[in-house]
Order: sequence, then C-alpha cells, then structure tokens
Amino acid sequence: MKNVLVFGGGFAGVEATIYLRKANYNVTLVSDREYIYIYPTSIWIPTNKIEFSDVCIDLQKLQNVHKFDLIVDALENIDIKNNSYTLKSGKILKDFSHVVLAMGSSKMKHKGIENTLSICGDPEQSLLIRDALSEVIKKGSGKLCFGFGGNPKDSSAMRGGPGFEVLFNVHNMLKQKGVRDNFELTFFAPMAIPGKRLGDKALKMMDIYFKKLKINKHYGKKIKEFKKDGIIFEDDSKLESDFTMFIPAGCGHDLIEDSIFRTNEAGFIMTDDYSRVELKDKTIKNNVYAIGDIAALQGAEWKAKQGHIAEVMARNVAHNIQQSDLCLTNFKGYKEHVNIMCMMDSGDGASFVYRSSKKTMMIPLPIVGHWIKRAWGSYYKLSKLNKIPRIPGM
Ligand SMILES: Cc1cc2nc3c(=O)[nH]c(=O)nc-3n(C[C@H](O)[C@H](O)[C@H](O)COP(=O)(O)OP(=O)(O)OC[C@H]3O[C@@H](n4cnc5c(N)ncnc54)[C@H](O)[C@@H]3O)c2cc1C
Repeated sequence: MKNVLVFGGGFAGVEATIYLRKANYNVTLVSDREYIYIYPTSIWIPTNKIEFSDVCIDLQKLQNVHKFDLIVDALENIDIKNNSYTLKSGKILKDFSHVVLAMGSSKMKHKGIENTLSICGDPEQSLLIRDALSEVIKKGSGKLCFGFGGNPKDSSAMRGGPGFEVLFNVHNMLKQKGVRDNFELTFFAPMAIPGKRLGDKALKMMDIYFKKLKINKHYGKKIKEFKKDGIIFEDDSKLESDFTMFIPAGCGHDLIEDSIFRTNEAGFIMTDDYSRVELKDKTIKNNVYAIGDIAALQGAEWKAKQGHIAEVMARNVAHNIQQSDLCLTNFKGYKEHVNIMCMMDSGDGASFVYRSSKKTMMIPLPIVGHWIKRAWGSYYKLSKLNKIPRIPGM
C-alpha cells in the first residue's frame, strides 16, 4: 500500500483523505487545527443562532472513522527535490509516494485591518464578531458596516457572499430585538458593482433587498485605511462605523511565496486540470497535487473559489493518484465543474444562487431556504462521520 501525505484539514484536505482511504492508501493528514471548520455555516455564530462547536468536526473523530494518521502541527518548509516536508515542531516527513497541498489561502493585507473583524478569517473571529455586535447593541444605537475587498490579480479569490449573509442575519436579529431603527447598516466595497459575478438577475434582486431592508450602499471607492471608528477611502472621505466587518480577498498561501512552484500573479499554485502542480524546474520529480483555495482556479472570468469545487478537486486527486499508480490515464479534471452555487442565507430564508457557462439564476426561498442550509450543515457533519450515507456528488 502506498503512502500519501495531505497538508491542511479543511474542505479539500479532509475530502482527499477520506477518498484516498476509500482507495486503501495509507494517509497521513497534517493540520494546524484540531478540527475541520465548516465555514459556510459559521455565518450564524455572530447572531447566536449556532454555537462554535456546531461548526467544527474534531479531526480525531474523523480519524477514528476513516483510519488515517493525524498529525496536529503546521507545515513550515517544503522541499520537493528531496521529497521532504518540515513541520513547526521540527518533525520531518519524507519519502511519501504522493503529496497533496490543501492549506487554503492567505489574506490580502490592508492598512489598519486590526480594526476590523472577518467572518472568513481565523475561526475565533466569528466569536469576536458576536461579542462586538452584542457590545454595540447594548449601547442602544450605532453604525454597523459590512464589506469585502477584491484582489486585482485574481478575482476568484474575492469572497462577498458571507458578507451579505452576516449583514442580512444581523438585520433580522436587530428586527427581532425591536431595535433595527436605532442602527444604520451599510454595505461597502471598493468595486463599482460588488457581487457582479453572480449575474444580472442576482444583482437586481440584491438591490431590491437593500432598498427594502433600508441598508445603505457605499460602492466604488478604494479603501485607504481602516480606523477604529470608520473606514477612510482614497479621496480621504470617511465612512463612520462603530463596528466594521470586512472580508479581505484571498491571496497565495504565505508558504508558497518565492518557492519552487509556478504561481499565478496572486500567488496561487498553478496546476493542470488534474490538480498536479506546475514546478518552475520541470526536471524535478513531481509527485505533488494542490487542491482547494491554495490552487489557482481556472475557468470563466466569474469563477469563484468555493468549497464544493475544493471537494471535486479532492475526489479527483484521489482518483488520479490511483490512475497514475496503475499506469492508467483515465484522469478526471475539475474545470468542467467550475460553477457558482450557494444558498445565500438571510436568517429568515435564503436565495439559491447558481451560475454556470449556460445559465445564471437566483431563486428566493423564504423560510425554507434557511432550513435547507441548516440541514446541509448537519448533512456535512454526519456524512463525513459515516453516520448517514453520502449523496453522490455532495
Ligand atoms: C464564511 C464562509 C462561508 C462560505 N460559504 C460557502 C458556501 O456557502 N458554499 C461554498 O461552496 N463555499 C463557501 N465558502 C468557501 C469555502 O469554505 C472554501 O472554498 C473552502 O473552505 C476551501 O477549502 P480548503 O480546504 O481549500 O481551505 P480551508 O477550508 O481554508 O482549509 C485549509 C486548512 O489548512 C490549514 N492550514 C493552513 N496552513 C497550514 C499549515 N502551514 N500546515 C497545516 N495546516 C495548515 C488551515 O488551518 C485549514 O484547516 C465559504 C467560505 C467562508 C469563509
């Protein structure tokens, strides 16, 4: 049985580990967290709809079910030439037949970012957002600003959906508490048309929501700096804020910078359709794959890094590794699966958003949409732990 080394215990790394185990590989998973964090359902932590622990699966529990080796440690150095990987503890992992990199992305660094909180950052930030919101609400009134930024070098690394979701959930929470009118809610973004990649129909519908919910829009001005009490824009104008949630766009993982990998301009690892990494020096023996947010996603200009694509890449890699070990060539590519698919939650419902090369749609699903997303969260946990059967492709 061959050995595979997987780095990163997120959507991509966990799915690759499970599918490689299904194919009877010995798998070692290295994760710098003890749990997988289910980002899509973390949007409810700030409004107290869900507990932090509801959004986590203990990796040790997954290990017991799927029988892989688990090392909780951080990868610190990659030496592909010598097939050697050094962890923060000093431990060296060597001579694995295949290596899968799935450590996600780093975030763009903005001046004054410490004055903001992000639902897409370290998991603990969701709790800080919850606490900061509750402090502002205690004061009785205030200005709450929610926004996201772009990466001009790779638009697929921008993440706006969770920003809209937390904003709508906060609106509903304030309404339920009977204090919505005491708070000014603003959505801000440096681009002229944030959410453009969701398609025209979705944009029109978002506009209707914003008007109906009395949410201000502040678009089209580059952000210069975040201050404790607001956001300063390129023309030195200021958006005053008592609470700022800002989602910086992703960029290449810090470990990949100036390395042996070919990357795109934003620092994401270039791969082929089968997720095999491209190296600057083609003479080096290459047994490495990159999947999920760490990889440069290829496809239409509206493409977006998403969890379901990370999982497609992961399942493909498990398949492609088997093919190459059997000296077969029936490899599977991820590009044909690139689409945008999400259930954009508002706390009292959701909208199903879909975009592919053939169609775009946004279907409002009042009440039931919210519960479909909640059910997906339970499905994700239970199916990964083999407590319920997997639905094919999910
Ligand atoms: C709030 C939010 C909501 C979202 N909603 C949706 C949605 O509704 N639908 C959808 O499809 N997608 C959604 N996404 C996107 C989706 O979550 C990501 O695309 C997905 O998590 C990417 O998976 P990944 O495994 O590549 O990265 P991650 O999930 O980020 O996992 C990377 C893992 O690697 C670990 N790691 C990092 N560095 C090291 C290191 N040096 N050594 C060891 N381990 C390391 C990290 O701790 C982490 O556990 C959402 C994202 C966020 C943030």
